[in-house]
Formats: sequence, structure tokens, C-alpha cells
Amino acid sequence: IRYADSKGWYDARVEPRAPIALDPAAAVLHYAQEIFEGLKAYRSADGGVTTFRADANARRFRESATRMAMPHLSDDLFLGSIRELVQVDRDWVPTDPEGSLYLRPFMFASEVFLGVRPALEYLYCLIASPVGSYFAGGVKPATMWVSTEYTRAAPGGTGAAKCGGNYAASLVAQAEAIEQGCDQVVFLDTREQKYIDELGGMNIVFVLDDGTLVTPPLTGTILPGITRDSVLTLARDEGRAVQERPVSVDEWREGARSGRIRETFACGTAAVITPVGAVKSRDYEFSIGGGEPGPVTMALRERLVNIQRGNAEDPYGWVQRII
Ligand code: PMP
Repeated sequence: IRYADSKGWYDARVEPRAPIALDPAAAVLHYAQEIFEGLKAYRSADGGVTTFRADANARRFRESATRMAMPHLSDDLFLGSIRELVQVDRDWVPTDPEGSLYLRPFMFASEVFLGVRPALEYLYCLIASPVGSYFAGGVKPATMWVSTEYTRAAPGGTGAAKCGGNYAASLVAQAEAIEQGCDQVVFLDTREQKYIDELGGMNIVFVLDDGTLVTPPLTGTILPGITRDSVLTLARDEGRAVQERPVSVDEWREGARSGRIRETFACGTAAVITPVGAVKSRDYEFSIGGGEPGPVTMALRERLVNIQRGNAEDPYGWVQRII
């Protein structure tokens, strides 16, 4: 779908995937005015297709657009584009119970203009790709690398927006985590490098010895994860205490040692919920819950996956049938 300041959104169409021609002076190539989303479509038992909280992705897409000085896409256009593409690509939605169709909506500044100001023309696109289970051969606890050299987002920055630039800036830290034999980088706050913000592509949640869930608050430097919100909702509804408050690396380390922090998990669309087994940094290394997936983590994971896949009742109206 194209956008021009003078006429709004126009020219919506579904077409075979092919390269896009861009003028070398297209604004996105210079100033990174680009945002995106990530969500999945699931095959239901009767052969239909559903999405999970796509309306929340539509809302976050608009919030990202606001932060990046871009136009808003209505729910009608955002959700409608998903319905239309999935209709056309319905045979690509995997039928195996672990698979799904990953959906990637994105929007970028296409105006041919080298001055630095918000562009007046944009292109919104949606592409899809079938994905299998994130954990082939069962859920495995992940290892985290706490970056002391790089941070992700400063107060007042773009941390809460899902914009390409955030990921460009985090690549070097994520590559360092992989070099160190870890799966994901943990970013700390930019002011004191003391409090935990989030991971390269996931939010983080701690489980205390009394069953309380603790997670860093949405203060503008972390992405408001839809999985994070779903997990907190499920936990509150099963009577768990939930605290959204800063957690320092010292609290994490000391809590893992004393047993006050029993479990830690990462959450996001790709892997839903991933137990964290070990943590490393330049100066220390520790394990959590003996490196094994914790019971609260795994119970929340099962509950959420069952709702997403239509195998459990959905009291929240999170699952929307699109075919
Ligand atoms: N933080 C970051 C930096 C991410 O890229 C993601 C993945 N979108 C998340 C958190 C988790 O968000 P969600 O649960 O909406 O996938």
C-alpha cells in the first residue's frame, strides 16, 4: 500500500513477491525511517487459520509510526492486509502442530529527497514466510550475555518503537553474545549500566521463590512486547503477584545464588517463552535454577502456546479467526 501526504493511503494490492525498485535518494536509505512488526498465523485443528493479538501489533505499529514521524495505518488496512495475504497464501500456513506462518508488516520512507525531515511518501508492505518450531528437539534453556560495552536505548530515544535502526545498533552486541557462546545479549540501562532493560529480540521476566513475577517496567527504553503483556495477564489471572519494576544485574546475580530468583525466562513472538539457564559477562558467570527449565516458566509457556494454537479456551479474545 502506498502513501502520499497529498492523498493518504492508496494503491493496495497483493502481488507475487519480487524486488522493489528504489531510487538511490529514497529517504529510508539515508535516514532509516522504517518500522516493522512480527506476528504469526496458525493453522487450527479444523483447517482454518487464526492470528494472535494482531490488533495489538496494529496498535504498536501506529505507536512506532508516531515516534518515527510516519503516517498511521488504520486497523482496517493493517488487519485487512494480513487477511488478504493469508487468504492468498493459505496453503503456506503449515499444518504441523509446531509450525506457523510468520508475518512481517513493515513501512518505510520512499520519498526521493535528501533533506533531513519526515518524508512525504511511504510504502507499507507485508511479507510472509512459513516457520517451524523454534526449538527443534524440545525447549532448551538459553544462555545470556550481559553486554557491558553496548547499550540499546536511552531515555527519550527510540527504544519503545519497533524501528529497524534499533536492531542495526544492536547487531554488534548480539554478534558479541554469539562469539561468547551465548544465545542472546542482555542490554542494561544507559544511565548507570546497572538495571536490566531487555534482550536483543525478547523481553525478560524473573520468577521469585514465592512465585512472584518481576519484569522491567515500560519506561520508554524497551519494546512493549505483546508476549510480555500476555504472560503478565495470564500470571495475574492465576493469582500470581506481578511486579513491573527495575531489576539490577546485582539483584539477578545475588538472587540466582541465594535462590530468591528461582527462574528467569525470555519472551517474544518467535520463541514464545524461553527458559534462561545461564548468564555470562566479562566479569562473572552464573546459572539459574541449576540450568534447567523452571516449572513456572514451563507452565506459563504451555498455557500460552495452548491458547495461541486453539487448544485451550481463550477468555481474552486474543485469537482471531481469519479463514
Ligand atoms: N524486545 C525486542 C527488542 C524485540 O525485538 C521483541 C520481538 N518483537 C520483543 C521484545 C518481544 O516482543 P513481542 O512479544 O511483541 O514479540
